[in-house]
Amino acid sequence: MKVALIGVGQAGGNVTERLARFDANMGFEAVQGALAVNSAEADLQSLQFVDTQLIGADRVNGHGVGADNELGTDVMQSDVQQVLDDLDGRVTSRSEAIVVVAGLGGGTGSGGAPVLVHHLQQIHDIPIYALGILPGRNEGALYQANAGRSLKTLLREADSTLLIDNDAWHEQGESIESAFETINERIAKRVGLLFAAGEAVNGVGESSVTSKTSRTSGGAAAASVVDSSEVINTLRAGGVAALGYASEVASEDSSENITNTMSVARQALLTGTSLPDATTADSALLVIAGQPDAIPRKGVERARRWLEDETGSMQVRGGDFPLDSDRLGALVLLGGAERSDRIEAFMERAREANDAQESEPTDHAEVFADDRLENLF
Ligand code: GDP
Repeated sequence: MKVALIGVGQAGGNVTERLARFDANMGFEAVQGALAVNSAEADLQSLQFVDTQLIGADRVNGHGVGADNELGTDVMQSDVQQVLDDLDGRVTSRSEAIVVVAGLGGGTGSGGAPVLVHHLQQIHDIPIYALGILPGRNEGALYQANAGRSLKTLLREADSTLLIDNDAWHEQGESIESAFETINERIAKRVGLLFAAGEAVNGVGESSVTSKTSRTSGGAAAASVVDSSEVINTLRAGGVAALGYASEVASEDSSENITNTMSVARQALLTGTSLPDATTADSALLVIAGQPDAIPRKGVERARRWLEDETGSMQVRGGDFPLDSDRLGALVLLGGAERSDRIEAFMERAREANDAQESEPTDHAEVFADDRLENLF
């Protein structure tokens, strides 16, 4: 799937840079253009691989909006034309989707991403997706409340919102900086593979497809290489999307690879997903990546049926991603996955945090207004 990426805010910029770099290093050419937008100049300066655009300079003078996401919304609303102009040439007739990337708990990305998605929807016919990073559960009330409001608005504006929970893709006990490194790297690899999976027909997989299909015999289903349209159709359910990934060393033995395929598919959904515990979905896509010879039709079909049972969805697509690797990998993309305990728990945290903010007395002196004690002066 050929995409243009726009990162908004610090997390948005960092993740966009990682994605663009992964795609270039792998030679996939799925990422057609990448731009990072921020109201904090210092955060843009650390990026080397993407073009950058400062917004809100007249309001915050390059110092960022802090964690004030309403200010993030205002700043994007004022400067959105500048951002859209900057996208000229990055969104081309070959682009199949635009992905707006942001951390939902902060200010610039949280407030700015929904505004940008809204405006992109007005001028482009291709799907506009959001890739949103949810704050970890220990990140504090303001981050939870910000993320709740941002997510609600993104769900209204974007064609689908792929969520990455900051608690999901790192090891326990890592410092926050090294956790970000790990998470960003994993996002780049997994989301990068998803974009590239749809490129396989025209790219890496071309020769393998022909040879594999011709070897298929005896009534076995023909190999089907996953195509961009399957990613887009899976996301057509709208709402929340989640992505899972797992891989294992492929075996020389084809019957063992049937078991391996089932095993990576299970791990991808049950323990490797960007939104832990999200298994119920309106639609799903199972992509098995690896050497064409190592991908067993029987295993893929069995895993696809298992995914149907687990997600409760009748719309489970499947496809191969021929890749020159000694491993077998499974990518599981879920569409319409908002009915999960994780999302419920998160929205409850966000609502509580929001209520607590609103019920705080704004004028603390009022509490003492009719006290019999007198002020000193
Ligand atoms: P903004 O610059 O105002 O949009 O704010 P941030 O992008 O820093 O958003 C804050 C949220 O994003 C918090 O939940 C952080 O934990 C998270 N965050 C910040 N930087 C990164 C990063 O590089 N990677 C990841 N995964 N999360 C980040």
